[in-house]
Amino acid sequence: MFIFDAGSGIRELGRQLATEPPQQLHLFITHTHWDHIQGFPFFLPAYTPGWEIEIYGARNFNKPLKSVFKGQLDHEYFPVQMDDMRAHLDFHHLHETPLTIERAKISWIQTRHPGTTLGYKIEVEGRTIAWIPDNEFLEGHLDPLDDLTRDSEIVKPYLPMLDFLQGVDILIHEAQYTDEEYPSKVGWGHCSVGNACALVNLAGVKRWIITHHDPIHDDQFLETKLNLTKRLLTRLGSSVQVMHGYDGLTEYL
Ligand SMILES: [Zn+2]
Ligand SMILES: [Zn+2]
Repeated sequence: MFIFDAGSGIRELGRQLATEPPQQLHLFITHTHWDHIQGFPFFLPAYTPGWEIEIYGARNFNKPLKSVFKGQLDHEYFPVQMDDMRAHLDFHHLHETPLTIERAKISWIQTRHPGTTLGYKIEVEGRTIAWIPDNEFLEGHLDPLDDLTRDSEIVKPYLPMLDFLQGVDILIHEAQYTDEEYPSKVGWGHCSVGNACALVNLAGVKRWIITHHDPIHDDQFLETKLNLTKRLLTRLGSSVQVMHGYDGLTEYL
């Protein structure tokens, strides 16, 4: 089983897994911003003997991944410490991409986000799914998107990302800010809807699940934003299927 990031959702996953016999889990971390690790102290399998949890991520700000995880379990923040976790925890810093685990090939790329932040792609028997929750594609770009191509000056620095995502079957990627909100958020590490649409279109992604919703956007706002996203994609001539991610969503490749 592969798990990507350890936000609040991993708590519920842990409750489900706790009803099953212990197994080996592979947990990939994009980066250690709070919203991507804060669920880990609440992940039941970590406390249960027999579980093996392999945790992968980039080394960031000269602090090993393990010490960041250990740090959020310091007495000041949490009543239980990492030493109380009875599962076998192994931390791995990712170096050369890709990594092969049984039938799966996992590769990664640096995204546009403060600090070292990775995006992941998993390939199993020719089918691909990518997880890129934090990525400010075309940072600072505010203009209409209709005539952007791979040769546009603003796109050129992002060609490695476009190549990485070329033709993936499912991309789970953010589009956090509306185009009206984005000008005051440039450099925060998140996409405008328009720039995210450009990414998906230029990379020829087949299906796009939008994630990392802004906490101030309620369901009604998100629905309006999804309609806007669909209109923009149509304007770009994209045939990608798009939907919003939500708690408990199950998809099949
Ligand atoms: Zn972040
Ligand atoms: Zn985030």
